[in-house]
Amino acid sequence: MSIAKGDLHAALKKYFGFSKFKGLQEDVVESILSGNHTFVIMPTGGGKSLCYQLPALMQEGTAIVVSPLIALMKNQVDAIRGVSNEEGIAHVLNSSLNKTEVKRVKEDIIKGITKLLYVAPESLTKEENVDFLRSVKVSFMAIDEAHCISEWGHDFRPEYRNLKNIIGRIGDNIPIIGLTATATPKVQEDIIKNLGITGAKTFKASFNRPNLYYEVRPKTKNVDADIIRFIKQHEGKSGIVYCLSRKRVEELAQVLQVNGIKAVPYHAGLDAKSRSNHQDKFLMEDIDVVVATIAFGMGIDKPDVRFVIHHDIPKSIESYYQETGRAGRDGGEGHCLAYYSYKDIEKLEKFMSGKPVAEQEIGQALLQEVVAFAETSISRRKFILHYFGEEFDNETGEGGDMDDNIRHPKKKHEAKDEAVILMETIEKTNEKYKSKDLVHVITGKENALINSHKTNEQEFFGKGNNKDKKFWMALLRQLLVAGYLKKDIETYGIIKLTKEGKNFINNPESFMMTEDHIFDGEQDDGSII
Ligand code: ADP
Repeated sequence: MSIAKGDLHAALKKYFGFSKFKGLQEDVVESILSGNHTFVIMPTGGGKSLCYQLPALMQEGTAIVVSPLIALMKNQVDAIRGVSNEEGIAHVLNSSLNKTEVKRVKEDIIKGITKLLYVAPESLTKEENVDFLRSVKVSFMAIDEAHCISEWGHDFRPEYRNLKNIIGRIGDNIPIIGLTATATPKVQEDIIKNLGITGAKTFKASFNRPNLYYEVRPKTKNVDADIIRFIKQHEGKSGIVYCLSRKRVEELAQVLQVNGIKAVPYHAGLDAKSRSNHQDKFLMEDIDVVVATIAFGMGIDKPDVRFVIHHDIPKSIESYYQETGRAGRDGGEGHCLAYYSYKDIEKLEKFMSGKPVAEQEIGQALLQEVVAFAETSISRRKFILHYFGEEFDNETGEGGDMDDNIRHPKKKHEAKDEAVILMETIEKTNEKYKSKDLVHVITGKENALINSHKTNEQEFFGKGNNKDKKFWMALLRQLLVAGYLKKDIETYGIIKLTKEGKNFINNPESFMMTEDHIFDGEQDDGSII
């Protein structure tokens, strides 16, 4: 379908009242209108919904939108109905509808009135629904929150795995649109593979949030006092403090209150009335601070949140990014402060211990990234963006100096020789180890896996034993971020050399490394909690 640019803008104005597209929206809309499989990766708030809603409204037939979040589906349907005089323009099809309602939905689709049909993945597995959808004209299928298809995403849903099969039964050649705000290369690969959309036109927006300042502080027994001091320095400003447990939320909210801070708790254990009351107070600025578990935040659109504090470190970089992302939506200041102690990592590990082994392994790998983020002394922004598959240059990139490590840099020192040792070890062991085992090989520590390969008998075994494990781990992470090494996408853990890494071994050059922060051992007040 070819549509003139003017028509697209007219439709944007007509249906949504906007005069300009945001970011990559226009290109995405064009791709969908041309019938391509399309993959959209944009951070939350990037304007993903419009990317499929507008082409759906402009095309013949019904677009089927798969979404796991029933509450959000209802909001979207209401919003679309708001821009049209025709109530049947958008419908939800799920198990909460009675027979008459289902009949109405089907009639509207048959009549060609319905442009958007929202369905939960479980409704799509119902034979009668598949049969019905096969008999009508479907313009395309949009899979919202497409990361739910991947075990590496933060919200894996097994029903999503079946989608490709179901789409195939609804019709041949239906364009598929995947949308997500989770950008790790591993999740992206899973989505493309599982939806069967190799070669899809891919649109990825930058995940950089230049106005956010990232900072990590060691967590000592004085953490509450430190938080109070921080909040008082931001008096009258809105902020969120995330804690892991409901109990800690309650306690900390009280501590803040007795210290004269207008704070309320928020967690899923509170009754619905208190929850919405506390949320409203925050939105209306009757209170300044919400102390919350991760239950708080979904769909909260307060533009002037000035700080997000993590009293406890989150379980993945995705969660950290999502939660800190609630600061500075208006483009103004947003200070993201996280407290970190290795004890908290161990606590998170313990939570996982009852889960299936595969899930634990994934959880562990995600957690190790959090450790790396907390302990790193390179730019935190560079680290986060690298995690999301995006290269970032602090010298030229927006917000390049907005983190503690750049503002207060640690000393750097030459590590060319060590970088060669590390990369040669990877080469000589034929790229088969994950970071922990690699460091064991370099420092000369045996384990069952290493011994089973007889790596412990090699001349290079223990070549770097004059430096400790922490040093090698830090160097390895910095070589990863610098692009000399990469993590294998299939196993997500096996460390491989990139082309630059292979070149480095043959023509070593200066590599200035910064030593990571040491978070265990003595802290300012000599204690860790
Ligand atoms: P996402 O699903 O990516 O989190 P949404 O689709 O909810 O993002 O959009 C985020 C906000 O941006 C919404 O308030 C939406 O109305 C607004 N928005 C989307 N597109 C535009 C546009 N072209 N111009 C202005 N605002 C837009």
